[in-house]
Amino acid sequence: MASGKNCGRLQQSLALQPVASPYREGSRMTDNYAARDLATIAHPYANLATLPDQGPVVMERGDGVYVYDSAGKPYLEGMSGLWCASLGFSNAELVEAAREQMARLPFNHLFAGRSHDPAIALAEKLKDMAPIPVSRVFFCNSGSEANDTQIKLVWYMNNALGRPNKKKIISRQRAYHGVTIASASLTGLPGNHADFDLPIAGILHTACPHHYRYALEGESEEDFATRLANELEEMILREGPDTVAAFIAEPVMGAGGVIVPPAGYFEKIQAVLDRHDVYMIADEVICGFGRLGEMFGSQALGMRPVSMSLAKALSAAYMPISAVLIPERMYQAMVDESRKNGAFYHGFTYSGHPVAAAVALKTIEIYERDDIVGHVRKVAPLFQQRLREFTEHPLVGEARGMGLMGALELVADRATKTAFPAKAGVGAMFTRYAAEEGLIARSLGDSMALCPPLIITESEIDLLFARLAIALDRTTVWVN
Ligand code: PLP
Repeated sequence: MASGKNCGRLQQSLALQPVASPYREGSRMTDNYAARDLATIAHPYANLATLPDQGPVVMERGDGVYVYDSAGKPYLEGMSGLWCASLGFSNAELVEAAREQMARLPFNHLFAGRSHDPAIALAEKLKDMAPIPVSRVFFCNSGSEANDTQIKLVWYMNNALGRPNKKKIISRQRAYHGVTIASASLTGLPGNHADFDLPIAGILHTACPHHYRYALEGESEEDFATRLANELEEMILREGPDTVAAFIAEPVMGAGGVIVPPAGYFEKIQAVLDRHDVYMIADEVICGFGRLGEMFGSQALGMRPVSMSLAKALSAAYMPISAVLIPERMYQAMVDESRKNGAFYHGFTYSGHPVAAAVALKTIEIYERDDIVGHVRKVAPLFQQRLREFTEHPLVGEARGMGLMGALELVADRATKTAFPAKAGVGAMFTRYAAEEGLIARSLGDSMALCPPLIITESEIDLLFARLAIALDRTTVWVN
């Protein structure tokens, strides 16, 4: 499977034999997965009204960039699960790291000064590798929790600094920052707000930096970026700079449709934030750890954040863990609050869980040892080239992406950029055809997203796009 030398050792570590499902042997439990699923699981992000007709897709095992369903059919996992399984689905070293830690100390917490060596070593490693100055690392379990924690810490810091009105957080339309009450409020997608009584007060959304969709007729990328920065500044001035605490952004927007900002965007945004003392948070939950061909997305996009949220590829998704990188000024504010309130009253039972921390440490060791960033830089040009070969396809309005992340935006009319009616279900049809061809892609509104494991080889990239081409052609026939 390996193509580049960078990935040779990494691929060797994929020699894990498929594990037999406990339900396979000597058990009647194998039967009726679909019916049992539908009777018991409330599925996240599913159309719960139509799911009973479609049925769930039940996966049973993984191997390299492939996952296998319960009937044994292999799929090339073009989405790394949910933008997360960076090292594929059968890395034996990660399994062993988890097993060892399970056997030695399966649980310990970090409350009230208790600690354990995997969390200490992981915090040291993250401080060391972060592209920004970091004072302390705060561990959580998910991207949502990390971003929720970011908001709480900004509020907490500004109370400690005696500026209790500086609390508003600016996010962006089509951003995705999670689903807890505060992080869902940051998320700028209508579905995450409708009938959940969100967003909460004090969260604002500025424009989405998608040139193809939102630039004015003839507006260059540079001019578009300038206009967005001006709009941001107008928002800050309208609200009052002494009420605006932070701005949060994904380097490349993921769930909003894989949106790469226009040239110069973050530089111009940062200048506005600097003028009004607004703290920049990078949500590196998808882009962190090599996805864009740099260890962190902020480096690839020229962002200068004060803090970062990390998750997903932090542990190659083998265990749930996330982290907030805390700057010194904020940490000192937290210490001051402890003097005042008696403690820092925030933390999760599983903050820095030892097994998750051990797996994350091993994941980062593999990234560095096998030069995963170098591998992404080597294969990403082919990935982006193959993606852009669809630019002229009759159904494609825009082919876009960066690193090992991309999307095809499907349109009903290329000349007018008219989208298909949401109810037409074109995206769902495309992903269904793709799955039939053995490829997992994801439809995000009109955008068909790809985000394969970082270990993908050039021949696997070719296979991915060969399958995608068939799915797209079948969709074209269906549309017509
Ligand atoms: N931030 C970004 C950029 C994400 O893509 C996601 C999830 O996809 C989150 C935050 C939320 O992470 P989680 O689903 O682990 O809560």
